[in-house]
Amino acid sequence: MEGGENCCVKVAVHVRPLIADEKLQGCKDCVTVVAGKPQVQIGARSFTFDHVYGSTGSPSNDMFEECVSPLVDGLFQGYNATVLAYGQTGSGKTYTMGTGFKEGFQIGIIPQVMNVLFNKIGTLKDQSEFQLHVSFIEILKEEVRDLLDPSSLSKTETANGHAGKTTSPGKPPIQIRETSNGVITLAGSTEVGVTTLKEMAACLEQGSSSRATGSTNMNNQSSRSHAIFTITLEQMRKPKNPNDSCLNDTMNDEYLCAKLHLVDLAGSERAKRTGSDGMRFKEGVHINKGLLALGNVISALGDEKKRKEGVHVPYRDSKLTRLLQDSLGGNSRTVMIACISPADINAEETLNTLKYANRAR
Ligand code: ADP
Ligand code: MG
Repeated sequence: MEGGENCCVKVAVHVRPLIADEKLQGCKDCVTVVAGKPQVQIGARSFTFDHVYGSTGSPSNDMFEECVSPLVDGLFQGYNATVLAYGQTGSGKTYTMGTGFKEGFQIGIIPQVMNVLFNKIGTLKDQSEFQLHVSFIEILKEEVRDLLDPSSLSKTETANGHAGKTTSPGKPPIQIRETSNGVITLAGSTEVGVTTLKEMAACLEQGSSSRATGSTNMNNQSSRSHAIFTITLEQMRKPKNPNDSCLNDTMNDEYLCAKLHLVDLAGSERAKRTGSDGMRFKEGVHINKGLLALGNVISALGDEKKRKEGVHVPYRDSKLTRLLQDSLGGNSRTVMIACISPADINAEETLNTLKYANRAR
């Protein structure tokens, strides 16, 4: 990733093509990607980001190489990282992240991360020993739900839209904790140790199908919750062979641990569009709480002047930002991918998304 070292958050825009349903409705494309520039235009407004992908801009397979691959490399140097997909429901967040993983489906970012990760481990295995753990949770209504715990699979909503209990009886709810050296942990969540790509893909698939439950009203659960797939990489350097002094050694420490959060955020559309009853509205408010806090955190991090003045970064304002605290800012690397639909019927939400993303820069 090129650009200033003073900016720890990169922002990319991913414009999806018009989908069949939009074409059927006679929608027109209202988003223009400016040729040769990371710039999008909608109506009279124009926005510049670190990168713009899709539609007539550069192809979205560049997105992985430019935005995500450097974060995977950073994991091997001990840097935490976060990739966030932001946008209204239907804008392509799940498609972009690959959180709707089915076996054989390799388009999204998460399956590509897995490929790169295991390839890299393969090339470094003479030098270090590696351990990988995966967790997959979702945050709904400021509560953390374990997508890898089969006992939480059955906890869906009742038909009238009221949420069922999200934790098993006798099982304490998952808690976000901070250790004395600032490491954030999720007490009570499932951490699966994996040694192969296949095992890691199975976790993604299991959690993705667990997430796709509880659909009611005009919106479903997956659009109201943040889904966070986290890969933790530990590496222990093997003792050096004194006869092998020319070994290309990339690691200075004996032990490194870093994590990568891959986040499919809740839909960014306004709460009032989400539903009618009071319950649903509360959910909308909670979702906005996470996205609002995230916007505030990222904008505080991106403002060099504020950072130098030691301005407070409001991580504690939501579960989402609290959970990501040690992987947003500091030495960690963050990429936000703002997903947008090109359809004219979505113009208002698309503009909101571009404004939010613009504030993050
Ligand atoms: P979200 O998760 O933001 O609600 P989805 O990822 O489910 O949105 O995408 C909505 C629809 O658009 C899906 O049918 C998906 O297959 C399609 N879609 C999204 N992004 C693309 C893309 N880049 N190319 C083709 N189809 C896409
Ligand atoms: Mg989705």
